[in-house]
This record gives sequence, C-alpha cells and structure tokens, in this order.
Amino acid sequence: MKILLVDDSKIEQMVISSYLDPQKHHVIIASSGEEGVELFHAQQPDLILLDVMMPGIDGYEVAKRIRQSNEPWVPIIFLSGKTSSEDLAEGIAAGGDDYLTKPVDPLVLSAKLQAMDRIAKMRAQLIETTIQLEQANQELKQLTLSDGLTGIANRRYLDQSLPAELNRAFREQLPISVLLIDVDHFKKFNDHHGHLEGDDCLKKIAQQLKSACRRGSDFACRYGGEEFCVLLPNTDITGATAVASNILNSIASLNIIHRGIEPVGHVTVSIGVHSHQSCEPIKANDFLAGADAALYQAKHAGRAQYAIFKP
Ligand code: GH3
Ligand code: MG
Ligand code: MG
Repeated sequence: MKILLVDDSKIEQMVISSYLDPQKHHVIIASSGEEGVELFHAQQPDLILLDVMMPGIDGYEVAKRIRQSNEPWVPIIFLSGKTSSEDLAEGIAAGGDDYLTKPVDPLVLSAKLQAMDRIAKMRAQLIETTIQLEQANQELKQLTLSDGLTGIANRRYLDQSLPAELNRAFREQLPISVLLIDVDHFKKFNDHHGHLEGDDCLKKIAQQLKSACRRGSDFACRYGGEEFCVLLPNTDITGATAVASNILNSIASLNIIHRGIEPVGHVTVSIGVHSHQSCEPIKANDFLAGADAALYQAKHAGRAQYAIFKP
C-alpha cells in the first residue's frame, strides 16, 4: 500500500516507517497537518496514518479537510498519545476509521492495515459493480427505446418524447413538423421477395431516414410495421417538405427492385407531412392524425410522393 504518514515527530516518523518498510509498503511522510493535506491530494495514498497533536492544524482538522474534499474515500487511522474514550470518539467523528494509541504495537498496526486494506478493496469492488450496473441499466433503457429490426428509435420513444417536444414548440413559439412515411405496396413486396428480403428492405429504409435527420433534435423512428415517423422540431412547412423530398430521393437511390408490382419497379414510400405553428397548443394524437390524413392523400394521389396536411 501507498501509506501517507502525517506526524510532526521525527522519532515517530522513523519508528513507524521502520514497522512499515519491511512489509513492502511505500511510505510518504508529511511533517505537519498542512503538508499532510497537500500530499494527500498530490499523492492519492491508499491509507493515511494520522497523528492527532501537531502544531498548526491538528489531526482532527486534517481528517475533516480530507473528508470534505472530492477525492475518493481512503482509510484514515489515527495514531495518538491521547488515550481517553472521548479522544477516540472525536477522531472517529472527525472522519477517522480507526484509532490507535501510542506507543503503537507493530503487530497491531500490521493487522489494522490488513483490515483497512480489505475494506478499501471491497469498497473499490462495490464501486466497480455499481458502475457496471449503471452501464447495464443505460443499455437496457436504450434497448427498450429502440426497434429490434432496424435499430432506430421505436414507437415508445416517440410516445415518450413527442408531448415534450410539442410543449417546447408551444412554449417557445416555434414551428414543429412530423412526417409519417409508409412503404408502398409492401405486402406485395413480401409476397414476391419473401419476408427476409422485406426485413432487409425496411432496414435500408430506416438508415435513409436516419440520415435524413440532419439536426441533433431531429429523429426517425419505426412507427410500426412498414410505417416510419420523422420528427422535426423547430422546422416549418418549407423545411419539412425539403426533408420529405430528400427522403423520396434517397429511397429512390436505393434502387430496390420491386417485382410485386405491374410493371416491375422500385420500392417507394409515401409521406404525410404535418407542420404546426400557432398560438394554440396541439395534442400528440392530433398532430400525428394530421400527418396520417396527409399520408392517406399521398397514397390516393398515386403513391411515391408527399402530401401536406391542410386543416
Ligand atoms: P400501401 O401501398 O397501401 O401502403 O400497401 P401496403 O401493401 O404497403 O400496405 P399494407 O398495410 O396492406 O401491408 C403492409 C405490409 O407490411 C404487410 C406486412 O406483412 C408488412 N410488414 C409489416 N411489418 C413487417 C416487418 O417487420 N417485416 C416485413 N418483412 N414485412 C412487414
Ligand atoms: Mg401501412
Ligand atoms: Mg404500405
């Protein structure tokens, strides 16, 4: 262990060092409380042996300052000539973990070091486990909000974030737009190419939609089946139709052959666009219903295009 010994007495320094050196501990010596606090920060020892009575700040004060710092916990053992129960209690209250009276028995000191080392290791293990658990929790949370097939956000993520996004748009009086995207004649695609190729097609489309989200606040999610949704905060109708055009072009550039249609063609999507900016707040369901109505229009107008919702 790297041990910081804080003691103003040269003799004590030599005696304690002579106990610790043969046990292969690395001993750092501070001759005052102030130096002790400094070396604690600079050297980050594994354990501190702390004299109580010193000129300047005493051992109790040193312990308090160390405990108030943001550094990770290290065991502190007081070494003191004061033998009363009150002194021991004060040392523990100041942040010490153990209290030995001088003259220190080398065997007792060695045993105490061993016990403290064990506690320090268990604590480090606990911290490590806590960090791992925290990471696993984050990953799980991520999983519950992403779509298993395409890897982009899922409907649950949209349901969670849409009300907050709509509230923000209303509060800050900013426009907000949503695109509902549905793959055209996808049942026929599955029928002719098989479900696996259908899945593959959905993955590729999802990646295009993700790429179409240029701003950090934009996001694409799988709305369900072969339907997707792109949310565009702080985007008006001009911006939203530009993104919709982009999406139509990028899906066309995928050039996925669709043999289920007459004549044979390529996979396309239809898009319903709904932009909202008004003094009135809008509910998530109504916002999505507008895009759905526009999507219906796009389908009826011949697919492979976008339509804009007009209230
Ligand atoms: P339209 O152009 O009117 O949208 O016609 P469509 O055939 O795309 O629409 P419909 O709602 O009739 O069919 C949707 C199809 O999407 C049916 C379903 O099998 C398919 N589908 C939904 N989810 C998945 C999936 O995860 N993987 C695959 N391969 N197909 C899916
Ligand atoms: Mg559909
Ligand atoms: Mg469809």
